[in-house]
Amino acid sequence: VHPATDTIAAIATAPGTGGIGIIRLSGPEALSLLRLHFLPYKSSTAYTSHRLYYGTVITARGQVLDEALAVYMRAPHTYTREDVVEFHCHGSYVVLQEVLRVLLESGARPAEPGEFTKRAFLAGRIDLTRAEAVVDLLQAQTEKSAHLAVHQLQGALYEHLQGIREGLIHILALLEVAIDFPDDDVEIVQHDEVLARLQSQVLDPLTQLLAMADQGRIIRDGIKVVLAGQPNVGKSSLLNTLLQEERALVTPSPGTTRDTIEERFTLHGIPVHLIDTAGIRPHEDPVEALGIERARQKVQQADLVLFLVDASVGLAEAEWELYDSLRDKPHLVVMNKCDLASVQRLNDLRDQFPGTRVATISAKHQEGIQELLEAIYAQVIGESSELYEQMTCAPNTRHRSILTKTLTACTSLEAAMRQRAPVDLLAVEVQSALDYLGDITGVTTADEVLDL
Ligand code: GDP
Repeated sequence: VHPATDTIAAIATAPGTGGIGIIRLSGPEALSLLRLHFLPYKSSTAYTSHRLYYGTVITARGQVLDEALAVYMRAPHTYTREDVVEFHCHGSYVVLQEVLRVLLESGARPAEPGEFTKRAFLAGRIDLTRAEAVVDLLQAQTEKSAHLAVHQLQGALYEHLQGIREGLIHILALLEVAIDFPDDDVEIVQHDEVLARLQSQVLDPLTQLLAMADQGRIIRDGIKVVLAGQPNVGKSSLLNTLLQEERALVTPSPGTTRDTIEERFTLHGIPVHLIDTAGIRPHEDPVEALGIERARQKVQQADLVLFLVDASVGLAEAEWELYDSLRDKPHLVVMNKCDLASVQRLNDLRDQFPGTRVATISAKHQEGIQELLEAIYAQVIGESSELYEQMTCAPNTRHRSILTKTLTACTSLEAAMRQRAPVDLLAVEVQSALDYLGDITGVTTADEVLDL
């Protein structure tokens, strides 16, 4: 790896006003930029690495910008393994911008998002799964995804992969003994031992990681829940109740939600994107027609559809048509306005949806909402809730596709083993599985992955 030739700079703390704001520099010019723009009170010419100095940040002409602490961290014991300098200024955004500006004028380059982490990866300080975890952590929307990112940062995914890798390397060693002594009895390959190892150290963990990747997608990106139903059944009321705030306009006249409305809330750590659709029904108004078309598309993209009906009036023919159009999607039937319907009527309605999960609520009086949320959770997470609770990492789509390839290679290895294929062929399969795994920790593809 070639060391970077330029020095990057960025405000490292969140925008807004905080107690302190940090500006970070990394690269060969970091120390000279520190010398140029920082005046320690105890004037010393030599900076000791990893020590804080108290002084003023100044422009190239000596004008004071802020009083600050500065630290110089000498390579390679730094995040990027380059020379790193940090200015801990007062948290005013204006001041931070000023300081950054003078550093840029003196030759630093503005860092791209994630570039410090990218350098850490390129310098070999962290593997690609950890670098990605940093990005995930910065973008985490819920506590659960932040936890998982931290686990991954601490190497959880890496260790899973390391275990699989060691299993494969051990298998390769067993095979290579046979390759080295080709004249001996072919039975020198201990097929049973290799097969057992393959199962327990490679195939099982790979399958589990893939299951975690499926859950990971949900935890990271959340689920799309679409509210479908005729006008006036109470979609916006439910949306509002779920969001606990009046964001969508609720009116008593039918069909006023012209377009789709999307909101977000968190359910047991899962981001839920809740989409309210305009009532799907024939209509002359072209604006409404557009909304209906969009609503259909939303239903198609949904992870879960909530089919709302007004329990006080029962289902009209158009509603059955609507129901037929979505019943193949994962869905829940939600009987709303239960406050206006008799128990008998609710039971009759429920009987019309045999084998389907039915929730009974009153959006207006906030009844049955908790049960509805649990039903949504059960429907989406379902039987994998145990896995969900125990997850230690959340492989992303990139990991997922590589894990799938690795699994395919290992499955064909297993088949070849069972057919007693020639050893050198088996070894080739193992090697290709190992190569795939290498892609996850990032021997080859880092640039595309880390460019945000
Ligand atoms: P949308 O067209 O499906 O979005 O329906 P709205 O949410 O706009 O609701 C239509 C009307 O039904 C409004 O007057 C709401 O106050 C009323 N409504 C909604 N939910 C309930 C409920 O659970 N009980 C009762 N009694 N009225 C409700």
